[in-house]
This record gives sequence, C-alpha cells and structure tokens, in this order.
Amino acid sequence: MAIARDLRYHAAMQRAEYWILGEGGQVQCTLCPHRCVIPEGRTGKCRVRGVRNGELIALGYGRLSSAHIDPIEKKPLYHFYPGQSIFSAGGWGCNLGCTFCQNCTISQTGAPEAEVQAPAAVVAAAAGTLGIAYTYNEPTVGFEYVRDMAQLAREEGFKNVLVTNGHFNAEPAAELLPLMDALNIDIKSMDASFYREQCGGDVAAVLALAAQAVAAGCHVELTNLLIPGLNDSDGQIEVLARWVVSELGVTVPLHLSGYHPAFKMTRSATPVRTLERAWELCRERLEYVYLGNLRSTVGQDTACPGCHAVLIRRDGYKVAQIGLASGRCQACGRVADMILA
Ligand code: SF4
Ligand code: SF4
Repeated sequence: MAIARDLRYHAAMQRAEYWILGEGGQVQCTLCPHRCVIPEGRTGKCRVRGVRNGELIALGYGRLSSAHIDPIEKKPLYHFYPGQSIFSAGGWGCNLGCTFCQNCTISQTGAPEAEVQAPAAVVAAAAGTLGIAYTYNEPTVGFEYVRDMAQLAREEGFKNVLVTNGHFNAEPAAELLPLMDALNIDIKSMDASFYREQCGGDVAAVLALAAQAVAAGCHVELTNLLIPGLNDSDGQIEVLARWVVSELGVTVPLHLSGYHPAFKMTRSATPVRTLERAWELCRERLEYVYLGNLRSTVGQDTACPGCHAVLIRRDGYKVAQIGLASGRCQACGRVADMILA
C-alpha cells in the first residue's frame, strides 16, 4: 500500500532527539542514564535507537508490538478514572534487562520491519476510550513516537498514561511529563545492587523521575514486584514505604505485585502470605496499598483513610464505586484522593 510505504520511509528516517556528538565525533544518546556511546550502524542498549549516517535515529518510530483496549485498572491505576477503559499501545525495546521480565519477547528485541502506524492512526484507535496508555515495553525509549502521539491525543481531548520503568533522564522527562496525565512507575527495589545486578539500571535515576513526575503535577501510582529472596524482606519493604511517604506523599497509591517465573528467573512465584505481610507493613505508613497478580481477599478495595468505609469495591477488574458521592466519602465526607469521571 502506497501510504504504508511512505510512512515506512518516514519512520526509517526519523531523527532521534537528545543526543550529542562526544569526543572523537561519536554519537552519544542522552535520553536515559546509560548515555550510550554508539558506533555507526549499531544501536544502544535499548536496541531501538541507532546511529545511521552519523545521526541518532529512532528506529522504533511508528512500530507497534501490541495494541489492546484494557481496563485502566490493568495498568495498574486504581485512582485515575476507575472503571474506564484505555487504548494500550506497546512498541519495542527497553533500556533495562530485568532477569524476570514478563514482556521479554518485545522488550529485549529491536523493532522488526513492519507496517508503521502514524500517530494519528493510533489516536483514532483510542476513540471511545479514556485515551492512550503507552505500555507493555518501555515507552520512553520510543520517546519521539510517544511524544507525537501524546501531543495529538491531548489536542483531541484524550488522556495520556505512561507505564514506565522510570529509567529516564530529567531533560527529556521535562518535555514529556507535561503531556502525561498519569503514570505508573515501577520501583523494583530501593537497593542499588538489585537494580545493577537484576535489571542493569540505576535506582537513583528511577526515584528522581518519580519525584519529578509528582512535582510536574501528574497523577502517579507505583508498582513494586516482590521476588522471593531478592527484594521481599521486611526491611526493604519498609525502606520503600518510608521513601514514598517522605518524597512523594502519603496518598500516592502503591501496588505490590506478585512475581511469576519469567525470562531468566526460575525461582518460585511469590507466596500470597509474603504479599499480605508486605501489604500490612506498607499500610502502617501509606494510605493506599494494593495487591496485584494474585487472588487475595485483602488489598483489592479502596477504603477511606478517614473512616475506613469502602469507597471502591474491586473483583478482578470489575469496579463498583459503592461509597463515593460527588468525589467524597459518603460516610465521612472526606475528599477522595483520586481523579474521577
Ligand atoms: S535510550 Fe537507549 S540508546 Fe539512549 S542512552 Fe538509553 S539505552 Fe542508550
Ligand atoms: S523494565 Fe520492564 S519491560 Fe524492561 S526489562 Fe524490566 S520488566 Fe521488562
């Protein structure tokens, strides 16, 4: 098809942003903390930003790996338009290499040759939903494509949601965050060695991005995947909860998620009792703590921190706003810490 060919040409030539010519004239990408120095014809660690003819090219521009309409709860976001659906689009590549990645077939590979989707086509596909979630792989490595879609989506009245590992430099984040309405940010551990050894990343950069997103006025929720014996000790969980309270705020929702064997990680799935124990610990400090990726009777509903009345009842992705009226707790009148339709 002629249109697809034109778009493929456009995608192949899409010059990337956030790079410099370093010493010796080599291209250095400055999008994420890796700051890859990339020789001609090669790509950076994320596999989707590469040097062609002396310039950094966004090789994943326009190339989707996956697209689905999902409940917003699946991102997971529990305090952002609960009960609504969102068009969810994924690309290729990631700047981390988590040994337990559940999406390794798209995150640990570059973008294949494929028909490209112009930003306008993706925005059109979001019709009838809340907006677009940039998710599945790490969206920030496709910075230019995500930004172009988000700009258009914003103009069309849609919401933008970034589901990210947070391993992203402050300068491009300052350009992207004003286009984002909400983020779910993975904080995989508070331990620098965990990030280095299990993910190949820098925890300090992730924490800085989370604080930058909150300061930018975005709605932020966090996910922490608990892996038995690696990041699930009481001490590690308490360090995370304390950091969230002091740096982001007591009302930022935290999703504690159960791990299942994936990619290179073969250890057994997280026991339910580990997640329930972590939930109890975090609830001592944070007002909204949830459990995900498991069946449990705790950590599903949203309770009012003022009077403990149930505001939202959840059964899987089924959501019932049973205790809210005009954005307040029906029982005590406290304003709900969430964005409602
Ligand atoms: S975005 Fe990709 S190419 Fe750029 S510094 Fe990060 S890993 Fe390297
Ligand atoms: S950051 Fe997410 S997508 Fe990337 S490797 Fe880790 S788990 Fe996979």
